[in-house]
Amino acid sequence: MAGDGLNSIVRQTLAQWEQGKSDAFAMQQFPSPSTGLQYKVLTFPPQFPLSDKEGDVAQSTMAYGIRSSFKGRNQAISLGLLPFKDSTQPRTANIITYPEHTIWQLTTTAEVEQFLKQAFPQLPLDKIISPEEMARFTASAGGKFPIPQYCSGLYRIWGQPEANQGTGVILLGDAAHCFPPDIGQGVNSALEDVYLFQERLAETQDNLSEALPRYEKLRQPEIKALIRLAQTSYPWQYNQDPLRKRLWSLNFFLRLLLSRGLPFLFNPHSFLLIQNHQLSYSEILVKSNSTTKLLGILGGLIVLILILKS
Ligand SMILES: Cc1cc2nc3c(=O)[nH]c(=O)nc-3n(C[C@H](O)[C@H](O)[C@H](O)COP(=O)(O)OP(=O)(O)OC[C@H]3O[C@@H](n4cnc5c(N)ncnc54)[C@H](O)[C@@H]3O)c2cc1C
Repeated sequence: MAGDGLNSIVRQTLAQWEQGKSDAFAMQQFPSPSTGLQYKVLTFPPQFPLSDKEGDVAQSTMAYGIRSSFKGRNQAISLGLLPFKDSTQPRTANIITYPEHTIWQLTTTAEVEQFLKQAFPQLPLDKIISPEEMARFTASAGGKFPIPQYCSGLYRIWGQPEANQGTGVILLGDAAHCFPPDIGQGVNSALEDVYLFQERLAETQDNLSEALPRYEKLRQPEIKALIRLAQTSYPWQYNQDPLRKRLWSLNFFLRLLLSRGLPFLFNPHSFLLIQNHQLSYSEILVKSNSTTKLLGILGGLIVLILILKS
């Protein structure tokens, strides 16, 4: 099994071996407006103070979005903290923004400290971030959101593995499909890969030569749908373009209202449907596309009526 992440050496080796025969292990890439955004993570103590007031501390099970006092595209910044069940775990504050943002141009710990203190005057940062953590954050290279991508080949078999005369390789998780974290499905989809493969193994009494092709046939359309959902569901959430974010919100609430009023015709936005674990990625995509089609027809009819009336 290979679950060695986006830059999978196993997948790259398979791609080299397949050269000239097929491009099954070459990553196919699809654009997304969140690709290329840069991120770094600041570590906060478990119950960090929210202000100088006694007892005003963060709750581990609450998510926080802390906005800066700075305005303007290259100055404004937010700290995003996801909830944790374990109240003794340190919190991680994500900073996600465009590559040209001021914070990525700062090179010394003193510059970063000054920037954060000016950006978040509401937080007692001296009590939250140790000098060591500030230095680690400054020195860390951070990361960039990847482009949505997948490979169509999910396995290779040589010989007869069941008879101990061969071997089989399967690609799981980011090694086979990877995308920006907009829809929060990276870990879920990797776990689903493992679960579905384990089911195929049980079905075939651990016969790899049967289980692997069955797994690939079942998983390929789901991965294709997952990548499409990652591209389209909510790529504008990082304030790259306020107008596009507003249009997204309009679309989201329109679908929500219509799906509540006419549930037999319309579906909620795919960003909501993804939370429903009973729906597969391809089912979500079909529902989302059928609502898009209906909205298109409805919009066309409204325009036609307006033209005929005028
Ligand atoms: C900023 C950011 C935020 C994210 N947020 C979310 C989120 O909120 N929810 C979510 O579901 N997903 C999120 N994801 C995506 C999620 O992290 C990945 O989809 C998930 O970790 C994929 O798991 P994986 O096991 O396939 O790969 P990885 O987690 O990348 O694990 C691969 C492992 O293989 C090891 N490895 C690599 N090469 C070798 C080698 N040659 N030898 C030995 N070991 C090797 C690596 O060290 C690593 O430990 C986020 C991703 C990013 C970048």
